Amino acid sequence: MISRSVYNRVAPASSSGLVWLILPAMQTDPAPTLERLAATETWLFDLDNTLYPAECNLFAQIDRRMGEFISRQFGIDAVAAKQRQKGFFQQHGTTLRGLMVDHGVDPADFLNYVHDIDLSVLPALPELRQVLQALPGRKLIFTNGTVAHAERVLGRIGLADCFEAVFDIVASDYLPKPRPEPYDKLLAAHGVDPRRATMVEDMARNLAPAARLGMATIWVPTHSDWAQPVAGETDHIHHVAPDLTGFLSALSNSGRNAEPAAKG
Ligand SMILES: [Mg+2]
Repeated sequence: MISRSVYNRVAPASSSGLVWLILPAMQTDPAPTLERLAATETWLFDLDNTLYPAECNLFAQIDRRMGEFISRQFGIDAVAAKQRQKGFFQQHGTTLRGLMVDHGVDPADFLNYVHDIDLSVLPALPELRQVLQALPGRKLIFTNGTVAHAERVLGRIGLADCFEAVFDIVASDYLPKPRPEPYDKLLAAHGVDPRRATMVEDMARNLAPAARLGMATIWVPTHSDWAQPVAGETDHIHHVAPDLTGFLSALSNSGRNAEPAAKG
């Protein structure tokens, strides 16, 4: 068994986390322990900025392509396009929803355009590949991007054969995380028991619906403002893994080490 202190936890900074650490019996739904993580049957991995370093900044390229798409769609300059994009985001949650709902844009046209980016900035990740292959359980990708984007990225970072399936924005009926619908749909489509599942994500708010459904959660922190937890709302973040490869590797090893002890 590995010590809980191996990992950083958000909870000690919050009063509710402290209650859990001191009085686990009083918490009706305590944060899943590392032992439960190690017993995960199904892993849901976000793709972008979770499996590869956020410093690669693919989103800057995607964001630029979104602006270009809007410029071309409406015949407006980059500044006006940025304004319109902001409006879509505020009113509909995503640029795509705004384009679809307000303007009848074909989502495939938009998604193909914005994901046509340069992936040469992504490194190969052989250590993560090794860790994922050794990690027990099913592994699915749960992304607000597309299957085509996920396959290109996974191919580039060398993880193409590590996942059973990709559940993308098309499978989600174009309703992105953290809307609750895609979580329910994924669980049903792939026969996943949320009490035996763990979700791994860089966007803290995307872990909230997962925790509500009973999943364990691992937050992969980045420096992006929009990926941080809302102040005071950290109960849905059960574990924090700045180094995902190291975290999963330690978890796999703890499971293996614990087995002989349990039998003895
Ligand atoms: Mg992400």
